[in-house]
Amino acid sequence: MVSVSSLAKKLMFARQFTIEDGMFSILGAPHVIFPARPFASMEEEIVKRLGKEGISFMYNLGIETGKKIALLYKEETRLSGFKLAKLLMDISSMGGWGKWEVYKADLENNYFINICENSQYAKAKKSNEPSCHIIRGFIAGELRVSFGINNLEVVETNCVSAGDKICKFITKPATGFDLNSNITKRQLPHLFK
Ligand SMILES: [Zn+2]
Repeated sequence: MVSVSSLAKKLMFARQFTIEDGMFSILGAPHVIFPARPFASMEEEIVKRLGKEGISFMYNLGIETGKKIALLYKEETRLSGFKLAKLLMDISSMGGWGKWEVYKADLENNYFINICENSQYAKAKKSNEPSCHIIRGFIAGELRVSFGINNLEVVETNCVSAGDKICKFITKPATGFDLNSNITKRQLPHLFK
């Protein structure tokens, strides 16, 4: 497994990780650096104001954005499948989105578990339930593009914002979710429509 620092070093050496002329680029794609906690508080504010609608809004926004991120890197690297998904995760770790790990990748059944340690995004929030909805969306969008499967959905079962040690995300095709589970009801309400 490529460590995050060696990925950063490799990219820097290849001039694929640059900061110059007011632009921070990874693999030719411009990025912005923004303090994590104020960014996370935007999601907290949206969910506070919009309630359930806010949860769906952030998830769907995450999906559309995650697809764009994956397409951008797919174009730049010509990678796809697990290699693209893993690169996106390593770039997230490198970009300060926590320390990401693939806990399970069942490529036959399109069943994935991703774990994030030390998420500053989650640490910025206080919640009584998993609350990283835009991150769930990023994962769904990125994996949909990486594997070319449009019905992948993501739930977060553990979350630092709710007092857990890690944030844990489960990805499966929509048909694989238990419709009696409270997490499915809360996080994927569109499956009931
Ligand atoms: Zn979380």
